[in-house]
Amino acid sequence: MGYRVRFVEPDVAYRRIKDEVDRTLQDVLARGDLVARRDLADFERHLADYVGTKYAVGLNSGFHALHLACLGAGLGPGDEVLVPAHTFVASISAIALAGATPVLVDAGEDMEMDVDSCRRKLSPRTRAVMPVHLNGRLCDMERALRLAEDHQLTVIEDAAQALGARWRGRMAGSLGFAGCFSFYPFKALGAYGDAGALTTNDEALATYATRMRYNGEDRVTGEYHYHGHTCLLDNLQAAILDLKLRHFPAWLVRRRAVAERYRAGLGDLPELRLPHFTDDGREDSFQNYVVRARRCDELVDHLKRSGVEVLVQWRKPVWRHEGLKLGEHDLPGTEAICHDVVSLPMNPELSDESVDYVITTVREFYRGG
Ligand SMILES: *Cc1c(COP(=O)(O)O)cnc(C)c1O
Repeated sequence: MGYRVRFVEPDVAYRRIKDEVDRTLQDVLARGDLVARRDLADFERHLADYVGTKYAVGLNSGFHALHLACLGAGLGPGDEVLVPAHTFVASISAIALAGATPVLVDAGEDMEMDVDSCRRKLSPRTRAVMPVHLNGRLCDMERALRLAEDHQLTVIEDAAQALGARWRGRMAGSLGFAGCFSFYPFKALGAYGDAGALTTNDEALATYATRMRYNGEDRVTGEYHYHGHTCLLDNLQAAILDLKLRHFPAWLVRRRAVAERYRAGLGDLPELRLPHFTDDGREDSFQNYVVRARRCDELVDHLKRSGVEVLVQWRKPVWRHEGLKLGEHDLPGTEAICHDVVSLPMNPELSDESVDYVITTVREFYRGG
């Protein structure tokens, strides 16, 4: 179906920087630089500078960043890791596949990890906490970092949705032992295929991830230090990401402007809760614009019928997927969120006219009763 306002517009995004992208691709291909060449090193340096960490290690997914962070933190069988249930499944799988136990915690009104819920789930086996900065908004890091300090927990930030989001001027991904980013095509900084990175100030972790991504090998000495993975960021994708990172601050400005336009156009509707929260030093990056809506499923139908493509993440709480074997949970905040979330179109390519059309369509739905 042809939507009048699409959720994402990768073709439009490409056309806006086509010349630069084409030149970059041709340059890398002409050099034959396919694996771990200067484009990867350049991107890693620029990403680390942007995030504000000493190191960035390019990987082929956000999942692998999370997984290697867990392994690098020494997490394994018998260790419990606090992780919000309201997240993309990869956060949880990264813990489970390290052999550790994901302990699901609840989400607060803003859909972020609820630190009180973390405190209730502490046990003598709790070793780490994974704040997930969902939708481009940081968790309450003041309290999360205090919790970690009080109980000597390793902090692994799932910053897959939060490149460019800040808390008191500090970037997501620079606040803990490791920051984990995804450059999946529809993330705010997206490659043309799967990609990710781990950021850290810990030299040993950076070295570990650099070896693990390449079968455990130290590329200088040829020594295999561990049984490793094959999860290196492609040099070609790194070149694209390096070029896109230069545009990223401007894209972030546009995302925030789109969010403000939604706020101005929808803020008075009592049926909606918009993702704008009290200013406590957090600057959101608006990876997604998730509203909580009354008569949510009907609203989704109305929007789609009117040509507005929307997304619902996620209607079914993660622990209800039986194959994941996560057990039964009583997480009322998460359940409530699952019932009433809708993601409105959010990307830097959106025109003001498109945003206004979404606003008009939503208003029409609630006015109709
Ligand atoms: C996208 C995402 C991931 C995983 O990233 P991939 O690159 O798809 O592996 C992890 N956590 C969150 C919150 C995400 O949104």
